[in-house]
Amino acid sequence: YMKYFDEKCQGSKKMIEEAKKVIPGGVQHNLAFNYPFPLVVEKAEGAYLYDIDGNRYVDYLQAGGPTLLGSNYEPVNQKVWEVVKESGPVTGLFHPYEKMLAEKIHECMPWVEMYRCLASGTEADMVAIRIARTYTGKKNIVKAGGAYHGWSDQLVYSLHIPYTQTFEAHGIPKEVSANTKEFYPGDINSLRKILEENEKDGGTAAVIIEPFGPESGTRPVAMDFAAKVRELCDEFQTLLIFDEVVTAFRVGPGGAQGFFNVKPDLTVFGKIVSGGYPMAGGVGGSEEIMSCVAAGVKAGKKKAYVGGTLTANPLSCAAGYFAIDEIIKQDAARKAGENGDKLCDGIQKLIDKYDLPFVTWNTGSIVHFEVSGVMYLSVQDPDIFKKIPERQHYIEEFGAALTANGVITLAGSRIYTSMADNDDTIAQTLAAFED
Ligand code: PMP
Repeated sequence: YMKYFDEKCQGSKKMIEEAKKVIPGGVQHNLAFNYPFPLVVEKAEGAYLYDIDGNRYVDYLQAGGPTLLGSNYEPVNQKVWEVVKESGPVTGLFHPYEKMLAEKIHECMPWVEMYRCLASGTEADMVAIRIARTYTGKKNIVKAGGAYHGWSDQLVYSLHIPYTQTFEAHGIPKEVSANTKEFYPGDINSLRKILEENEKDGGTAAVIIEPFGPESGTRPVAMDFAAKVRELCDEFQTLLIFDEVVTAFRVGPGGAQGFFNVKPDLTVFGKIVSGGYPMAGGVGGSEEIMSCVAAGVKAGKKKAYVGGTLTANPLSCAAGYFAIDEIIKQDAARKAGENGDKLCDGIQKLIDKYDLPFVTWNTGSIVHFEVSGVMYLSVQDPDIFKKIPERQHYIEEFGAALTANGVITLAGSRIYTSMADNDDTIAQTLAAFED
């Protein structure tokens, strides 16, 4: 695959080298730190991505998940541009699309009675734990080991892969994250133990989980896990936060909460909630709990302070509103999910055909594949990362080899399908995997 990058990607290589003079590391986006070097993209459209050297790729990065309809979806663009032409991208004051978006989300997820726009999934996670502390008056936050809930000081703790220490979040004093505790992913007993320990020291304000398991189900959990966490939260009078940054609208209009029929107290949104446009974030829940969020400077007693110059701007709210509307009308979650099923089946057949120690699994449009299998195995054996430290490089190499065969994945181990995939993109992908 190195030959491909040497011969076909010279424009990208040159631009990244130049960019390194003005941008730390040459790229700004953490998904772009690709091996052997980042590709410079000209455009993403539908199921494809085009680099500046004129190469076309089947695009399973899909910008990291916000584009269930496919990238640069024209019918939504048209409507968003109409709103921007009329209102401008930002007003700083209330706009009808804020209300329309909140109503649309409530239609999809009835437990989200009230919704507050924020700037990103990271911000929304940060605000959710602040609301939980305000509402309960309790201190600790509990998350699953290896779960990503954005990069705020208190949640970036044990990011991604806790057992390899391949990632260290510097610049955060220990005291700042001292009240964030972690349980072993999927292990209800380890969660109970931490909740019990917290009772002796300030209690637990919230348990935050991704209902399908950390990192969009990279560490899959049992189907009844979310329901069991709900029971524990009730027992310990702790709020349950679902981080649905990836799953909301993607696994179905009702999100993971609709899928499992488990009620969270707070739901965190990102990605699809702005339809692939910027400022994708928000938090929602019952009227009682959401009343803890103060608008603007009038934060008083028992109010969690939240701000943001650009939040709830007409552009992002209209984009979210029209994208979600279109996702429902087009039945996009089901279509994207079927594409994910087909891909996962095809990859499994290849694994069987060549008798490889790889693993693949999916939740609809979220497809995982592990060329070393360790993420998956880590559910049973946390020490697996120590046993196979070269894992990260396998994944990087596999991702690069797929890219050289015309298929872009998320870090060489995840695929987000969209409604724009079709038999051609799936066939091309499986051919690349086979190669
Ligand atoms: N939570 C989850 C589950 C995520 O996948 C992400 C982003 N990948 C975030 C939170 C953070 O969202 P953002 O990148 O918009 O800050």
